[in-house]
Amino acid sequence: MAAREAIDRLCAVVPDFPSPGIMFRDLTPVFSDASAFRTVVDAVAAPFAGSFDAVAGVEARGFLLAAAVAYATGTGVVTVRKAGKLPRAVLRESYDLEYGQASLEIHQSDLPAGARVLVLDDVLATGGTLVAACALLERAGAVVAGCGVVLELGDLGGRASLAGRHVAALETV
Ligand code: AMP
Repeated sequence: MAAREAIDRLCAVVPDFPSPGIMFRDLTPVFSDASAFRTVVDAVAAPFAGSFDAVAGVEARGFLLAAAVAYATGTGVVTVRKAGKLPRAVLRESYDLEYGQASLEIHQSDLPAGARVLVLDDVLATGGTLVAACALLERAGAVVAGCGVVLELGDLGGRASLAGRHVAALETV
């Protein structure tokens, strides 16, 4: 099964979650299907083959992708977390979401300087999350190899906010 076919078949669209007017694209059924998950993990990493030494996953669904890609490619994995979860010295970025405001954090010292990092998340909406994640990684001394997502919401301008970066989505809606 091709990645796009798996996403079309299995992604659940939930109206008015988590707030009225939001069409939430729930990819967890894609991840819970063994064949679809393998296909999506391989496809999300493919455009960046050979260009990264580590994978960063954005909490929470990005963790699932990042861990699987890191394992499959023999690289390390780091977590980009919501504020207040990490125990050691952190860097923090605040940003706007499609629905509300949030902050992300990484440990200051999880990566060697100059590490080339692929950043993964499930959905690209306005781009605020990935912009913040990239800023954090660069503040920590890493080089962002690119951003990969399963699904891009094309009319929210996320790609434009990441202009100049290598951004790859398996499907755009
Ligand atoms: P954004 O920062 O606006 O690009 O939002 C992307 C982040 O919020 C990702 O971590 C997604 O999991 C989540 N997100 C935002 N909008 C949606 C949506 N419509 N459906 C599913 N997830 C979303």
